[in-house]
Amino acid sequence: MEKKDFIYEGKAKRLYTTEDPDLVIVEYKDSFTAFNGVKKATMGGKGELNNKISTKLFEYLASKGVESHFVRQLDDIHQLVKRVQIVPLEVIVRNITTGSLCKRLGVKEGMVLVRPMIEFSYKNDELGDPLINDDHAILLGWATEEEVAKIRAISIKVDEILKEYFAARGVTLVDFKLEFGKDSKGNLMLADEISPDTCRFWDSSTGDRLDKDRFRKDLGNVLGAYEEIWKKISA
Ligand code: UDP
Repeated sequence: MEKKDFIYEGKAKRLYTTEDPDLVIVEYKDSFTAFNGVKKATMGGKGELNNKISTKLFEYLASKGVESHFVRQLDDIHQLVKRVQIVPLEVIVRNITTGSLCKRLGVKEGMVLVRPMIEFSYKNDELGDPLINDDHAILLGWATEEEVAKIRAISIKVDEILKEYFAARGVTLVDFKLEFGKDSKGNLMLADEISPDTCRFWDSSTGDRLDKDRFRKDLGNVLGAYEEIWKKISA
């Protein structure tokens, strides 16, 4: 499958049409952004790492019955995916407190939650992806009540599957962000990517951060951490 026309450029990926109107090609870029695009950098090889990590995780989820837009990896930096319309919600799933949750609510970092906590943000860069609740999503027309219920159920299932998958590889899945899309027939499915850009991974024995927090907080060895995640899941 070949790229046809350029459709869209986001912070970490570019999208292209193909000869099939229901399929698009995602190109993973080498760019890092944080704090709503304020902090930026480029690191050679990052796109390739996220492409292969995301491929592996989407394939694993598919093997466990979780449908996503992912079709197949095409090469180092490209994936073939189903064309979907993205639901304008960022779904955050948390197992351990950290990040914006601690900042916003003044709770201490590292509390293990008794069950996964789900948060929704309205996906809007200009507004800085503000936190919203189910009623905002439903009553402002961003998702139907049924879609919100499905999004919650799928998100919890993804958490169960990936938490166990990573635990078996010595990695604690702290939190992550999911996005959902609808295909031309209106079928809701997981979309976007699942990678160290969108998840927080802590080394279970050392507590080392193996994700984008290394970039956000200038901890160094950013790509080394992404490599480490790849090594653990490809072994
Ligand atoms: N996240 C993301 N994109 C966003 C916001 C958050 O992928 O625009 C991920 C982030 O990497 C982390 C989780 O969602 O794994 C929770 O992030 P949090 O709300 O704590 O926000 P942050 O501290 O990153 O601002």
